[in-house]
Amino acid sequence: MGPMNAARRFVEDLGRRGLLTATQKVGVQLYGSLALTGKGHCTDRAILLGLEGCAPESLDPKAVEPALERIRSNSRLRLAGHHDIAFDEPMDVLWHRDQVLPGHSNGMRFTALNQASEVLAREEYYSIGGGFIRQANDLAADAQKSTTVTVPFPFASCDELLAIAQKNGLQLHELVLANERSFREEHATIAALDKLWSVMQVCIEQGFAAQGILPGVLRVPRRAPKLHQQLLTAKSKSPMQEMDWVNAFALAVNEENAAGGRMVTAPTNGAAGIVPAVLSYYDRFEPGATREGIHRFLLVGSAIGMLYKLNASISGAEMGCQGEVGVACSMAAGGLVAALGGTNTQIENAAEIGMEHNLGLTCDPIAGLVQIPCIERNAMGAVKAINAARLALHGDGTHKVSLDQVIATMRQTGEDMSSIYKETSQGGLAVNVPEC
Ligand code: SF4
Repeated sequence: MGPMNAARRFVEDLGRRGLLTATQKVGVQLYGSLALTGKGHCTDRAILLGLEGCAPESLDPKAVEPALERIRSNSRLRLAGHHDIAFDEPMDVLWHRDQVLPGHSNGMRFTALNQASEVLAREEYYSIGGGFIRQANDLAADAQKSTTVTVPFPFASCDELLAIAQKNGLQLHELVLANERSFREEHATIAALDKLWSVMQVCIEQGFAAQGILPGVLRVPRRAPKLHQQLLTAKSKSPMQEMDWVNAFALAVNEENAAGGRMVTAPTNGAAGIVPAVLSYYDRFEPGATREGIHRFLLVGSAIGMLYKLNASISGAEMGCQGEVGVACSMAAGGLVAALGGTNTQIENAAEIGMEHNLGLTCDPIAGLVQIPCIERNAMGAVKAINAARLALHGDGTHKVSLDQVIATMRQTGEDMSSIYKETSQGGLAVNVPEC
């Protein structure tokens, strides 16, 4: 998502600056983790679509393959959707696997040239996780300020969040909803939450309905459709059947991700199966599950994700997989406790447990494809999140390790982690398992 957003922003800026028509060539250079694992993460596909003006949230998944086929077979690209230029992908998209841009290990450089090969514009972007992009001056500005919108209950740590909630007699989801009112009307926030849940459900249904082998050299077969069928036709109910369903939900989402389908980035695409799987577990199996409970889940899960983004990172290229699957597990654990009516301290406890037992989790996708270990890892993360929620709900909220402490530990662990375990496919499973 980040590379698509960066490519689209680059061409939109060309349009705003009146440079689009003069542009006859666009060069894209990828650096660091993006270059090392970009093929497996479909970065090249995302960039081509972004240059054509596509946005992840509005892109029709069915239109993707025809668009890519058109661009690649004609060696021409419709910049911003309408300005036709020659595009020689092997020459115009360069993968600098041994270089890193200074701001972040997921770096991109876009260059627009005119007919005389003079540079019209050149911009660098960083994909910082969750589809968010930054430029160097954004990163500097981020260090100076956190937000331009004033919210009634600002917080920068979980301790602050809990203290503000207690002082104002609020449950965490009420606090987050009050803050969101600073951005839009409450009904619009609720509609956005419903939309997120709807996209998650559609993604799971598509993952169950699809068949065959996932794209890429690993030739990984989809497992969600078969597991789904087995669960639907099971003659007797195993005591572990709910866990099988959770596995199926997570596999379905991450198989869709591996196939280039649409899902909710929560908090990243690689870790996008955990929140929907746990939310689906709540919806399907928890007696008394309600739409309002789903809202509570998403509001609280998002607040937990914000804490990680603010005080550490949700980028596998910076933190390893603890920053993706670990954060998703923590968000889902806290969200589930909120949905089930747990206290604020029980929510914090669940979110902390969800990360504590993912600390040190490395990122080592085989062949750079977000398939092994990623797909199964989401199933493991979803089950772990439910267990974290249950552990917290069986307690009274008191616990030794705070969420803030575990977030700081994750950040320090990520900083200490060798770069070969941070989305570079240069270590771990990526080097110990043959690609085909
Ligand atoms: S191993 Fe984890 S962080 Fe790395 S690509 Fe897979 S899901 Fe993302």
